[in-house]
Amino acid sequence: MYSIEWHKKKGLPHAHILMWMMEKITPNRIDEIISAEIPDIEIDKDLHDIVSKNMIYGPCGSLNNKSPCMSDGKCTKWYPRDLLAETITGNDGYPLYR
Ligand SMILES: [Zn+2]
Repeated sequence: MYSIEWHKKKGLPHAHILMWMMEKITPNRIDEIISAEIPDIEIDKDLHDIVSKNMIYGPCGSLNNKSPCMSDGKCTKWYPRDLLAETITGNDGYPLYR
């Protein structure tokens, strides 16, 4: 199941995708399937440039209090978020990606 959305301020559509897996994914295998990292410019410059231009959120918070995501001085999308050395799985079902 999926839906496609277009952000007004960004040029590219994005998809929200829900998949049912034949095999359950264990937390230690998340990084094999999902990456929230900026691609290495030395390995793949084109992909690095696409991600850098289109997939990085913000700025908001103290850098841009007038961002549409801001409400009562806080980002409603929980940005900026801490950078993590390792992917963490919590009790709410939502991993925090490396
Ligand atoms: Zn924000």
